[in-house]
Amino acid sequence: MLMKKNNSQKHHVFANRDHGKGSALSFLDSEGADLKRLYKEADRIRHIHMGEEIYIRGIIEFSNICANDCLYCGIRASNHAVNRYSMTAEEIFSTAKAMVFRQQTTVVLQSGETPGIDDTEMGEIIRRIKKETPLAVTVSVGNRPYDTYRHWKDCGMDRYLLRFETSDPELFGRLHPDCTLEERLECLYALKELGVQTGSGFMIGLPGETVDTLAENILLCQKLDLDMIGIGPFIPHPETPLGGEKNAYEGNEEMFFKALAVLRIFNPDAHIPATTAYDAVFPGVGRNLALQRGANIFMPNDTPVGHRKDYLLYPGKPCVDESADQCASCVLMRIESLGRTIGKGHGHSIKNHRRNSEHGRHKHAG
Ligand code: SF4
Repeated sequence: MLMKKNNSQKHHVFANRDHGKGSALSFLDSEGADLKRLYKEADRIRHIHMGEEIYIRGIIEFSNICANDCLYCGIRASNHAVNRYSMTAEEIFSTAKAMVFRQQTTVVLQSGETPGIDDTEMGEIIRRIKKETPLAVTVSVGNRPYDTYRHWKDCGMDRYLLRFETSDPELFGRLHPDCTLEERLECLYALKELGVQTGSGFMIGLPGETVDTLAENILLCQKLDLDMIGIGPFIPHPETPLGGEKNAYEGNEEMFFKALAVLRIFNPDAHIPATTAYDAVFPGVGRNLALQRGANIFMPNDTPVGHRKDYLLYPGKPCVDESADQCASCVLMRIESLGRTIGKGHGHSIKNHRRNSEHGRHKHAG
């Protein structure tokens, strides 16, 4: 346990790059001075590997139509209280174009998972954004066939986000009636094989989760060697089957930050966003604290304000009434207040360089 070690031993534990489950559980159990050291170490590792720049990646939630029924999700197909919408290709493009003037270098195109979104049209949107703006394009529209991912990559897609949500196959199955953990992981492996920068992540505190699950989630991120990792607390949505449930760490919300810090220590060179859900639990300060405890990416909402209230994955989601310009200036102020700078380039994964040199080493060794 961390508490029983002297300072040099603790430093040794942090410095060990081959962290296993025992270390993860020990770190997640940190309290008092050990907890402060954990946060400091996560911030130090973020500084060494990712620098002081915070990249701003604007999200356009372009459709809330979803064919799936994930038990925790506010826009699941069975929630008939939701006013469904889908932006046109032209609306998506003009929204993306405006992001360039807000110092945003990536557009994240996010929607529910529906076969209704035409793969060809999506490809055309990606192609046009890449051709007519300097933005990098991240797509996040769920499980898709290999050939679709390949087509979108050919159109210029740089990155893809697909969270596995939990590493526990049984819990995954209970929460996702439309998909298995194995299928979700197959999608992630397909994206990696195609050379798309791949992001995933998980929810913290799903009902039925234990700290052991949380440690396994962090280890799965490490095993997948992800380019981006997004995590955030589970917040029960009243219009879902989990509406009456509690977060597994209710009363111990510090666990949300501990998970983030351990995630950074175990994944030193992955991009880790300070997700909006941290602000929902800790209003006004959640994302700032996340940026001081391992995170290095900010993802403001660029969805046209008229649609935002219809994309409530969980209740209490912040920034629903603010315009994209208001969100953008709030982000700049927050970054400035932390003494950090805004990333100027695309902020692509820094892992490709390491992977290429490892590949070169293996070739020489062979
Ligand atoms: S989490 Fe995603 S796939 Fe599941 S119901 Fe919500 S939008 Fe659909």
